[in-house]
Amino acid sequence: MSLTAVPNLGPATALTCRECGQSYDLGPRYACEQCFGPLEVTYDYSNVSRERIEAGPRNIWRYRDLLPVPPNVTETPNTEPGFTRLVRSDNLAESLGLRSLWVKDDSGNPTHSFKDRVVGVALAAARELGFKVLACPSTGNLANAVAAAAARAGIRSAVFVPSNLEQQKIVATAVYGGTFVTVDGNYDDVNRLASEIAGEQEDWAFVNVNVRPYYAEGSKTIGYEVAEQLGWRLPDQIVVPIASGAQLTKIDKAFQELITLGLVEDKPYKVFGAQATGCSPVAAAFKAGHDVVRPVKPDTIAKSLAIGNPADGPYVLDAVRRTGGAIEDVSDEEVIEGIGLLARTEGIFGETAGGVTLASLRKLVASGALDPAAETVMINSGDGLKTLDAVAAVARPSANIAPSFDAFRKAGLA
Ligand SMILES: *Cc1c(COP(=O)(O)O)cnc(C)c1O
Ligand SMILES: [Zn+2]
Repeated sequence: MSLTAVPNLGPATALTCRECGQSYDLGPRYACEQCFGPLEVTYDYSNVSRERIEAGPRNIWRYRDLLPVPPNVTETPNTEPGFTRLVRSDNLAESLGLRSLWVKDDSGNPTHSFKDRVVGVALAAARELGFKVLACPSTGNLANAVAAAAARAGIRSAVFVPSNLEQQKIVATAVYGGTFVTVDGNYDDVNRLASEIAGEQEDWAFVNVNVRPYYAEGSKTIGYEVAEQLGWRLPDQIVVPIASGAQLTKIDKAFQELITLGLVEDKPYKVFGAQATGCSPVAAAFKAGHDVVRPVKPDTIAKSLAIGNPADGPYVLDAVRRTGGAIEDVSDEEVIEGIGLLARTEGIFGETAGGVTLASLRKLVASGALDPAAETVMINSGDGLKTLDAVAAVARPSANIAPSFDAFRKAGLA
C-alpha cells in the first residue's frame, strides 16, 4: 500500500489513545501500540466559528473544521449526507406527557440511515490515507452506505453481512454493485472475519475496523446539527440508540466541543441510551452498576442494533453516568409499538432502531429517569422501509373492497 507520507486531514492533528493518552501521527492505525486501547482523533480547532459553519453547504461538510477530512473535501464525490430535519413533535410529546420533544430524523440521509455520516467521513479520510477499497462488516445499514458511497466515489467496495439480514437491506446493498458477501454467522462473527481480512488486505479500508477512529467522528455531526437547528443551544436531554455505542459517545463529544469552543452556552445536558432487550449488554451493565460490558448473543428484531460485543460500551457507560442519564431496554413487542406510535403521531416511519429509541424514551419517562418538563431530543436513525417485516403483521389496510360505492358503504368506513 502506498501511504500518503503526511496526510492532510484538515483540523485533525493526531490520534490519541483513549486509555493511556499516548499520541500518534495521523495514519491508518486504530489501536494503541502500548495498551491496545482505541485511538481517538484530536484537533486544532482554531478555524472553527459559527460564521464559517453557517456559510458551508447544507450537509456534514459544513462542520469540516471539526472533522478529520481534507480541506478540499467538498470537491471530491461523496454522498453528502447530513443536515437532516429536526422535527418538532408536539403530538408525540403530548402522547408521552412531555413538555417539549424533537425527533432528529436521520432516515433522510442518502441511503436512509445515520450510517451515511460515518461513511462520508471514513471515505474522505481513507482516500487521503491512500486506501483503494472501501469495506466493512455490517448489520445492514452500514453495508448500504458503504456500497453507495464507493459507487459514487468510483472505487471498489467490499461488504460483509450476516446472511439472516432483512431482505430489504440485502437488496439495497447489492443494487450498488461492488463485492458483497453474506456470511453464515452473527454480526460478531462477521466482525471477527473482517478484522482477519483487514490484516491481509493492506489497501482495504474497513471503515469501522482499521479506519474506525476517523469513521466514528462522523457521528459528531448529529450533535452539531441538533445544536445548530435549535438555534445554537443544547437540548436538556437526548435519547440515542446503542449498537457499538459510537453514535452516543460522539454526540456527547460534539456537545462538549461546542461548549468548549463557546459555540453554545455552557449548560448541563443528559445523554440517555436505548437498546433492545434481546441485545442489551450496555443497558445490563448500566443497571448492574458495572464498568465492563459482558458480551451477549443477540436475539432481537432490531438487527441494526444487534452488536453483542459493543466496542464503545465502556465509553457509553462513562458518558451516560457523567451526564446523569440512564440506559433502558425494550422488548421486541415494545419496539413494534414504538414504530407505530412514531408513525401515527408524527408521520415518521422509523426502522426498528427508531422503535427501540422511542419505546425506551417512553419507559424512561415512566421510570422518572427522564424529566418530562425538560426539552428532549430523540434520534430516529433509520427508515422504516428497510425493516418492513417488523410491522407487516400489524400495519394492514382498513379493508379490501369491490370498486363500488355500495361496497365502501358496507365496509362501515364513512
Ligand atoms: C448502526 C446503527 C445505530 C447505532 O450505531 P452505533 O454507533 O454503532 O452505536 C443506530 N441506528 C441505526 C439505524 C444503525 O444502523
Ligand atoms: Zn494506550
